[in-house]
Amino acid sequence: MAAALRDLAHTAPAATRLGSRAMYDAIVIGARCAGAATAMLLARGGFEVLLVDRAALPSDIPHGHFVHRHGPERLARWGLLERVLATNCPAVTSMTTDFGDHALAGHDLTVDGVPLGIAPRRDRLDAVLAEAAVQAGVELRDRFAVLNPVRDGERVTGITGRDARSGAHVTEHASIVIGADGRNSALASAVGAQVYESAPTATCWYFSYWSGLDCRGLELHVRSGRVVFAFPTNDGLVGLFVGFAIGELGHVRADPEAAILDSVDAIAGLGERVRGGRREERCYGATQLPNFLRTPHGPGWALVGDAGCHKDPFMALGICDALRDAELLSTGVGEGLAGTRPMPEALAEYARRRDEATLPDYRQNLAMAHFEPLPEQHLRLRAALRGDRQATDHFFLATQGMVAPQTFFNDEHLGRIMRGAAGVSG
Ligand SMILES: Cc1cc2nc3c(=O)[nH]c(=O)nc-3n(C[C@H](O)[C@H](O)[C@H](O)COP(=O)(O)OP(=O)(O)OC[C@H]3O[C@@H](n4cnc5c(N)ncnc54)[C@H](O)[C@@H]3O)c2cc1C
Repeated sequence: MAAALRDLAHTAPAATRLGSRAMYDAIVIGARCAGAATAMLLARGGFEVLLVDRAALPSDIPHGHFVHRHGPERLARWGLLERVLATNCPAVTSMTTDFGDHALAGHDLTVDGVPLGIAPRRDRLDAVLAEAAVQAGVELRDRFAVLNPVRDGERVTGITGRDARSGAHVTEHASIVIGADGRNSALASAVGAQVYESAPTATCWYFSYWSGLDCRGLELHVRSGRVVFAFPTNDGLVGLFVGFAIGELGHVRADPEAAILDSVDAIAGLGERVRGGRREERCYGATQLPNFLRTPHGPGWALVGDAGCHKDPFMALGICDALRDAELLSTGVGEGLAGTRPMPEALAEYARRRDEATLPDYRQNLAMAHFEPLPEQHLRLRAALRGDRQATDHFFLATQGMVAPQTFFNDEHLGRIMRGAAGVSG
């Protein structure tokens, strides 16, 4: 996989070259889940795309990587789920949540063969996406750092960048420049993309990877001011991620491993399981995790992924939302490029649809990252589900959006569950 991607990078389809300088339909900055997916979808739509990343690819990044909700289904629809699983990444089909009340577990969570989740390390997931982009005709240049947007008046018309391989400074032009360059997006800064919803960092995260740790599904354990995630990932390892209220940063940073172990010891059985395994990598940390939405478009430019909307990792929404927004943006840009809709109107529609899809989760995620207690009603429902395996599986499928939520969350159904738990017939 790694060699294949290295071979594919820097292969410029001849059709994309116009004289000595390329004129592309789109230039995408950032070749990970948001950028590679956007570039791939545009190329599959027949457009000429240049995809650049300052990193050498494939490479890992110290971010989490549990992909759930609409993410696995979208990868399946793009023909990429099997390729991700083939990186020796297990399908995750069970999930346990524990908010300090009790552990509630859902099993066999698959719909039409698509599992609840997958947790590929980022060098694998991003490589699958970048490879698919290249196979669709995208020109990929890694180790290429974008320095500035090129403008014609207010309009962005291209980029200048430095190719680390040759040392050359390069200018490229396109009808649209897309920033998929992460939460510290330089494109967003350069164009002055407005932030219109924001909240400061709520949590800091420390994590590592264990062998020999018995963990077959996603586990989520919340205790006051701390959250522990565990999930199986590539090569038989288990990712163990702990989020701490940001006020704990000082002492957690002093000894991250001790803080992780202290957190798992607070959860019945987990401390023993972790100590029964072996930590295989160093402890990584992430401490600058502001929450924001930026206006994701303007004349000649657009933003996708973390560049346009960054959320605390609590609900693990970054990747699945980046894939969804790649689809929304590529649809809009495709309409604009094809002339079936004026580009400004198509981009405004992208922004509207992104916000409609993301804002409720953005706000719920923020509440969870502040460790706000679960609503009483939700706790009562969790209590009522105890011991009812079928209803619990349905609950998880509905909360994950794997089946229509209203099939579970309707008054009649909820009433039946609550009455059943109370031992009332009918
Ligand atoms: C601790 C932690 C845990 C997380 N856990 C999860 C999880 O379990 N599940 C989940 O879905 N999400 C999780 N996330 C969030 C997820 O990692 C991000 O949402 C996701 O990486 C966003 O992808 P992206 O493609 O938008 O940006 P990124 O993955 O940040 O990629 C941006 C790319 O742009 C490139 N770039 C930047 N500037 C330039 C430039 N000037 N020139 C060229 N290239 C440039 C970078 O090299 C990089 O490769 C977590 C994040 C953290 C920090």
